[in-house]
Amino acid sequence: MKLHELTIKETAQGLKSGEFSALDVCKDYLGRIKELNKDIFAYLSVDEKGALKQAEEADGLISKGKAGILTGMPSAIKDNIMVCGLKCTSASKILENYVAPYDATVIKKLKEKKAVFLGKANMDEFAMGSSTENSAFGVTKNPRDLSRVPGGSSGGSAAAVASNMAVFALGSDTGGSIRLPAAFCGVVGLKPTYGAVSRYGLTAFASSLDQIGPLAKTVEDAKIVFEVISGKDPMDSTSVDSPAGAKEFDLKKIKVGIPKEYFIKGIDAKIEEEIRSAIKKYEDMGVKVEEISLPHTDYALAAYYIINPSEASANLARFDGIRYGYSAGGKDLLDLYMETKGKGFGPEVRRRIMLGTYALSSGYYDAYYLRAQKVRTLIKKDFEKAFEKVDAIFTPTSPIFPFKIGEKASDPLSMYLVDIYTVSVNLVGVPALTFPIAKVGNLPVGLQIIGKPFGESTLFNLGNAFPGN
Ligand code: GLN
Repeated sequence: MKLHELTIKETAQGLKSGEFSALDVCKDYLGRIKELNKDIFAYLSVDEKGALKQAEEADGLISKGKAGILTGMPSAIKDNIMVCGLKCTSASKILENYVAPYDATVIKKLKEKKAVFLGKANMDEFAMGSSTENSAFGVTKNPRDLSRVPGGSSGGSAAAVASNMAVFALGSDTGGSIRLPAAFCGVVGLKPTYGAVSRYGLTAFASSLDQIGPLAKTVEDAKIVFEVISGKDPMDSTSVDSPAGAKEFDLKKIKVGIPKEYFIKGIDAKIEEEIRSAIKKYEDMGVKVEEISLPHTDYALAAYYIINPSEASANLARFDGIRYGYSAGGKDLLDLYMETKGKGFGPEVRRRIMLGTYALSSGYYDAYYLRAQKVRTLIKKDFEKAFEKVDAIFTPTSPIFPFKIGEKASDPLSMYLVDIYTVSVNLVGVPALTFPIAKVGNLPVGLQIIGKPFGESTLFNLGNAFPGN
């Protein structure tokens, strides 16, 4: 087995026993990146020097017997998360030369464990998209089939893990951006409970929806990373310490809900078949499965695509050509704003700013933004009611298989539809895990398990119980 094929757990064992060093591991991954990144383009930038130095430091810690489980683990970090001294572009021209002046809290926590940062991962510009085609610097390809998209917006993070160019990655999930690419690339992804992980140092997109989370090769590895990055942070007032998960876990005591509104026209028949057979496997292990209803599901995408652009339009106002990044100049202030934003932002970002500004404008606020927030409350109540009866909800992660590069690029509405199973989770703030359950041809199918607020431990336990995990 090659070093880059190992999981976190296996790598940690080898490091501890002295079978190989963190420097060996780091060099192996850097070699892999040299070989594959030109085709897959998972990384926007690679910090070879920094990574080698961090690996040496990790070896120092290991030799003193002070290593933690993430010591020396080579990672890919989505390019909207700040790593001090490295470029942080959010895959936008407007931040093309922006260098992070401080570490995001998640990075600080990983640095304390002496994890290794190989580089910054490609993404849809400002995390807006489901395919990574909206990156200003080029599209990432799906390692399972290079003619297809890796999903988005954390497509670079997912592709890096799927192609063994990183042992784990961090992504961000506002409406599915960790889970969709994880499902498309056949890796594990976790969207934590809103507030479980600090957002300090994450480029704000839609602040009431955004969460940072791990992408990894196994459920166990995702859990390891989550436990390191989560927790209350004084720099993010929405963050909290997760209450400790239940110590005992008995599959036979678990009740799972299958929302009837999720198996509708539009879902690929092969995906439905695989999801149903995965559910059957859980039933065979003693899990109780029952049909539930989430009656406002039909309105989730519409509410999301009002609330998300509204928050985005407010957050992106800071990129004005004066305070951050690229500036186009101009004959006066208004001209400078217009030129900078017109040239610095790509079409999807401009679309969201316009949609959001419209939805928030006086006269339309009540009809769009306020109404969408009311719908959000109804969707939240649907989930609360469901969780009175069940411990977790099983759904497909995506209604379709990874599509061909270019197939949906000119049709934003059909792109938005791909998020049908993921956006409610963000509107409600609950956690959700996706992991691969099957392959059809080369293409993976992901099962999404949605949990109660701070129910991550149940998700990990359920994920680990799946045959083969
Ligand atoms: N595809 C969704 C969007 O474009 C989700 C993005 C995300 O989670 N960052 O809004």
